[in-house]
Amino acid sequence: MFATDDTIVALATPRGRGALGVVRVSGPRAHDVLREISRRRSPFSPRRATLTRIGGNAGAIDSVIATWFPAPHSYTGQDVVELSAHGSPVVLRTIVQAALGAGARLAQPGEFTLRAFLSGRIDLIQAEAVADLIAAATPLQARTAFDQLEGTLTRRIAALDADLFDLITRLEASLDFPDEGYHFITPDEICARVGSVATGVEHLLADAHRGRLVREGATVVIAGRPNVGKSSLFNALAGADRAIVTSMPGTTRDLITEPVDIDGIAATLVDTAGARDADDVIEREGVARGQEARRVASLIVVVLDRGEPLTADDQRLLDETSSQRRVVVANKSDLPDQIHVEGAVSVSALNGCGLDELRFTIAHALSGDEDLRESPTLTNLRHITLLEDARRSLCRAASALSNGHIAEEFLLADLQDARGRFDEVVGVRTSADVLNHIFEKFCIGK
Ligand code: GDP
Repeated sequence: MFATDDTIVALATPRGRGALGVVRVSGPRAHDVLREISRRRSPFSPRRATLTRIGGNAGAIDSVIATWFPAPHSYTGQDVVELSAHGSPVVLRTIVQAALGAGARLAQPGEFTLRAFLSGRIDLIQAEAVADLIAAATPLQARTAFDQLEGTLTRRIAALDADLFDLITRLEASLDFPDEGYHFITPDEICARVGSVATGVEHLLADAHRGRLVREGATVVIAGRPNVGKSSLFNALAGADRAIVTSMPGTTRDLITEPVDIDGIAATLVDTAGARDADDVIEREGVARGQEARRVASLIVVVLDRGEPLTADDQRLLDETSSQRRVVVANKSDLPDQIHVEGAVSVSALNGCGLDELRFTIAHALSGDEDLRESPTLTNLRHITLLEDARRSLCRAASALSNGHIAEEFLLADLQDARGRFDEVVGVRTSADVLNHIFEKFCIGK
């Protein structure tokens, strides 16, 4: 997978019919492949959209816009050709086949982005951001991924790494010339600078919870006894009639899920069967699935019916969920109030009153009251784990320094360890296994 000296081709747009479809070719023979499949004698002008006919053995099949991006100014850093054709699966397949016939090979998943990384066009953070940007389901996720693609996190880590590098060189100089003692840097200065890098890492890690929430989303499970309005609330939050609403208790038997954007958070909303003692086997299975969904939920929305006094089933659910992250909702606020539950959000799934406040409350309960308007810098568990390791090494160095006696060799080992983690985040030192793991999750053509 890591060979980059051959020429690869793949469809870059989704399979299926559309106005346009794009085929991408990358590698040393990209321009030759283009000339061969377009049967054009003269070379293409670099970076100029050129209308040309493309064909297989049986003759021309489409006229396309071909653009040749000579290395190194291309997505992959190699010679790249992009062909915008009509979005017909037959046309696109024929173009890919023609490119294969002209000596290209079908690309592996993520291979274009992998080549961009291997040629140094982008670092590993940015390669991962490409996947996140494509997978984004909410505007906040997209903005966050785009920030990383633009290098926000890369720059923050590079600045910390530069500080650490400077400190390490001075310490090494002190070691190489022991007679000069701490000539190159004073102990106080070492202390202050280790502390400052550690604080920088700490600031990045402060984003970790919010960042993971934004990147990975959350599972929000709606629970409550039958007929309190769970399905109505589910439909209102999903903005679609997905769950069946009836006045007959016990109609939701299986879990129904829908992806929704709750104030920027990509949430999977789950409607569950009403929590009660059921006689019917199917309903009992539904209730059991509901319990399992509640167990793994990021947050539970406990729905109560404001129009009726609390029942034993309501009370049991409130008790069962009291130690979990939850939001209590008093639904049917259009009816006369029969209950009062501290902290409950009043809504009417029927007329939509209170839904904005409910979304806000859910988002804040999930984020732990952190601001979700700004895009977080650190979102990826791989980066978080590595920066936590770096923090540990820096803290070890800092506390040994503050105790007053530490051999420079040990100090250096800790600082170099922290630098090693920074390198792994950006992909300077990354094992083939890790790279495979990251890029195999891409689709072909990315
Ligand atoms: P579930 O069994 O908890 O999923 O409840 P449903 O969503 O099926 O609703 C049960 C009944 O309550 C239906 O007749 C709904 O029309 C009604 N209902 C749901 N939400 C509201 C509300 O906010 N106000 C009023 N008045 N009725 C509601």
